[in-house]
Amino acid sequence: MASQALNCPNCGGAVASDKSKCEFCGSRLKTVACAGCLDLMFLGSKFCDHCGRKANKVEVFTDEKVGECPRCKRPLESLRIEATAVRECLGCGGFWTSADSFESLCRDKEEQAAVLSFINKQTFELRRESVVSYVPCPDCKQLMNRSNFAESSGVIIDLCKQHGVWFDAEEIPKIIDFIDKGGLARAREKQKIGLRDEQAKLRDEHRKLEHVKSHSVYGGSIFFNPFSVAGGIISALFDLKDP
Ligand SMILES: [Zn+2]
Ligand SMILES: [Zn+2]
Ligand SMILES: [Zn+2]
Ligand SMILES: [Zn+2]
Repeated sequence: MASQALNCPNCGGAVASDKSKCEFCGSRLKTVACAGCLDLMFLGSKFCDHCGRKANKVEVFTDEKVGECPRCKRPLESLRIEATAVRECLGCGGFWTSADSFESLCRDKEEQAAVLSFINKQTFELRRESVVSYVPCPDCKQLMNRSNFAESSGVIIDLCKQHGVWFDAEEIPKIIDFIDKGGLARAREKQKIGLRDEQAKLRDEHRKLEHVKSHSVYGGSIFFNPFSVAGGIISALFDLKDP
């Protein structure tokens, strides 16, 4: 990617977009894409130099201890992109989110756009080919499960059912694209049908075993949350067996 001159958000100096440090004031710099025109800007800029759009609000919490990257073992950095709390690896561009953050992200298109524009596509090429292997959770160091997101997306994510989900940098755009095309709603529809089949089977069982008091095994089941499109999928993801 050709570099271009951008203004340092701290001192206003013109710095090449591929620099990670301002040569005038020494601030650490990171480029992100404008959610409007996709042109680059430095993180911390208030507005896009190119189209004038207001930049996404990104806070960096440097004092939090947040574990290390499951892939390249570098310390993660804790960020808030608009309302979404994530931890990012500056080495490979991978993201860690808690189950809660991920669920809200699945539901909110504006948050998705904000997270997408934050992802630095340059890291995709930097990252070495991902080998299929189990990697440890940044919080508990247990090996995480590998799971095909929403069963049909084809994106294999790593998750710890206690702590959250790991995405390699190139997986986030794929997942957001999948959600965008209605993949999550379809997967949930399938899940509902599966649930109905299960319940029908269960009712048959109950009829056969008349002495068994009729009660729904699925009452309050984590598989079905009528208030959330994403909820069922996410909860189901987190109900997997350990590797
Ligand atoms: Zn500067
Ligand atoms: Zn712009
Ligand atoms: Zn990494
Ligand atoms: Zn964990």
